[in-house]
Amino acid sequence: MTDATAKADEPLLDLSDVSIVFDTADGPLVAVDQLRLRLARGQVLGLVGESGSGKSLTGFAIMGALDPPGRVGGGRILFDGEDLTTLDPAALRRLRGNRMAMILQDPMLTLNPTLTIGTQIIEAIRAHRPVGRAEARRLAVAAMRRVGIGDAEKRLDSYPHEYSGGMRQRVSIAIALLHAPDLIIADEPTTALDVTVQAQILLEVRRLVEEMGSAWIWISHDLSVVAGLADRIAVMYAGRIVEEGPARTVLTRPRHPYTQGLLRSAPDNPPLADGRLWQIAGSAPAIAHRVSGCRFRPRCPRADAACAEPPPDSGTTHRFACWHPHDGEAVR
Ligand code: SF4
Repeated sequence: MTDATAKADEPLLDLSDVSIVFDTADGPLVAVDQLRLRLARGQVLGLVGESGSGKSLTGFAIMGALDPPGRVGGGRILFDGEDLTTLDPAALRRLRGNRMAMILQDPMLTLNPTLTIGTQIIEAIRAHRPVGRAEARRLAVAAMRRVGIGDAEKRLDSYPHEYSGGMRQRVSIAIALLHAPDLIIADEPTTALDVTVQAQILLEVRRLVEEMGSAWIWISHDLSVVAGLADRIAVMYAGRIVEEGPARTVLTRPRHPYTQGLLRSAPDNPPLADGRLWQIAGSAPAIAHRVSGCRFRPRCPRADAACAEPPPDSGTTHRFACWHPHDGEAVR
């Protein structure tokens, strides 16, 4: 096997046994642990879970952008074979500008309200490429067109507040794609948008994935958002991945009771006999109130005494951590 072949076969991103902790006055609090994930070049991973499950923290940890008192407490985050947890801040910054990018839920966290969109895109281009202003402007127009913004030449001179929420998010996607990064982490970028705009952006992203070949991690609390986008889906609950596998398998034949619950509680499912929608009992625990053994135990209809012990990780291409998994029956 040649070096080039070996490299093509390596995952772009390989997380093993990663933990994320918060240092508190009472000692470290573990927010995420035993995290194992692999992502190939050109692949889209949907990272799904309720609020507080640790999915956004995972995104920030990969980017080396956890804010103190949060930090990576252990494990390895290999990006193209290099362990990001050992890189110095300057090397991480270089990677973030060129080879990795992040898109946030609120585009105004990315955009400066006092500068025109054009100025911001042009500055982002020139920060990493030695081009003159005219060439940078031409590239900025192309970047806006790439994400479906019409009349781009004229719109460059507008300020963020003159754009709709959907257009602002398209701009932040355009900025993330400027240097054709190998990895893009999108943290609920369409959650605040209405359903139609969300659907349009998801379609554009799917087209961009095929066109550019970048790998994406698309973080969402909503399985239906990642359903048409992701090649693989990882479901997080209370700081752990409880199920991970090919998107179609996870969506149609989930093995973990939590994934089953998420799918059954989707709003487009038929209501129960009393007219209510099915929902998972209880709520996700705060970090300090997680139970030992399986953390889903207090909410799980299948729980028994065995579940007081940590469940084993089963499967290879389709993994799940449960003592009493479903047998793969179709959910709908
Ligand atoms: S290990 Fe037990 S409590 Fe946890 S998901 Fe499986 S059946 Fe439910």
